[in-house]
Amino acid sequence: MSEADAPPPGADPDAEAEGGSEEDSDMELLRNLLARTLGLGTEPPERVLDELSLAGIARFMQSERCRRVVCMVGAGISTAAGIPDFRSPGTGLYANLGRYELPYPEAIFDISYFKQHPEPFFALAKELLPGQLKPTVCHYFMRLLKEKGLLLRCYTQNIDTLERVAGLQPEELVEAHGTFQTAHCLRSSCRHQYDLSWVKEKIFSSLVPKCDKCQSVVKPDIVFFGENLPSRFFSLLQSDFQKVDLLIIMGTSLQVQPFASLVSRVPASTPRLLINKEKTGQSDVFMSLMGFGCGMDFDSDKAYRDVAWLGDCDEGCLALAELLGWKKELQELVRKEHAAIDAVAAPEDTSSASGGDPTSRRGRTDGSGGRAESGGASSEQRGDDKEP
Ligand SMILES: [Zn+2]
Repeated sequence: MSEADAPPPGADPDAEAEGGSEEDSDMELLRNLLARTLGLGTEPPERVLDELSLAGIARFMQSERCRRVVCMVGAGISTAAGIPDFRSPGTGLYANLGRYELPYPEAIFDISYFKQHPEPFFALAKELLPGQLKPTVCHYFMRLLKEKGLLLRCYTQNIDTLERVAGLQPEELVEAHGTFQTAHCLRSSCRHQYDLSWVKEKIFSSLVPKCDKCQSVVKPDIVFFGENLPSRFFSLLQSDFQKVDLLIIMGTSLQVQPFASLVSRVPASTPRLLINKEKTGQSDVFMSLMGFGCGMDFDSDKAYRDVAWLGDCDEGCLALAELLGWKKELQELVRKEHAAIDAVAAPEDTSSASGGDPTSRRGRTDGSGGRAESGGASSEQRGDDKEP
């Protein structure tokens, strides 16, 4: 059934090309929608959930039908690790950059501005650079999905590398907005690659990273405004979203395109679970009028596959894990992994305990699997960097 709904995997020779892939992807989406609307696959979509609830999702996950889960995640899954949604103006981070006199806050992530003035970006990166932070319960829930053989792919908007720290392999990930994990020289004739530790060393010395070979600025491989998404995003979504049995969307308000449009690409029968602070992704009026029922529908009479669990991502994952009988396993995984991260960080702490901030040393994570930390992250953002 799910296969029948999907359009044929049309030849798409340009899907991996540098430019134009986003347009191709949009066309593909439009073709899907038209095919569905024009009745190519006319029978009403099958309802596979016995109940539109977290329990219904859990029962489906335990059935034979559910073998391939795709997760789509955003900033909301990392806030519990102390990483603010720093692309959003109003987080306070932009305000700290006043001395750089940015023409507008988002200029800090604008590629053309960056090429002229890289300093503000690296100043922000110094505050936010990942590596000394701990993945959240939510990240480890995805790790558990992988260990259970259920994870087809994790599509993340986050650049904090926490999915990797939590144990997802690069091939299991689509880092749609890039990653801090690697960096490249900006000069097109050079493009020398550098790793996270090299970049960190420069940034923590308040230096703009410059290429050893040609002295051009080295930019972390995160996607700036004005840059294309990684070709991997466009090439993998074609097949992933045709065969996915369950889509789990966590910690994203689905505002940023083309990432947000992914929810519309799954087969018509594929259930979609949203774990987020508020409902999101519903069809807008225009699309509904056009007969494109592609948005999320949690509440209408016609709702048949979408479930919203509103609240904190970690708590949502724990609730789902409990229904699946995985809660203890998840808590133990979090405890063990956090202890390992602490053990690596510990020797550094004795030499770097400057300032005597009583909150800077977090207590050992308790076994309750609850949040490792919430909110007040400033104390642990500047710790001595250690590779995870
Ligand atoms: Zn270079």
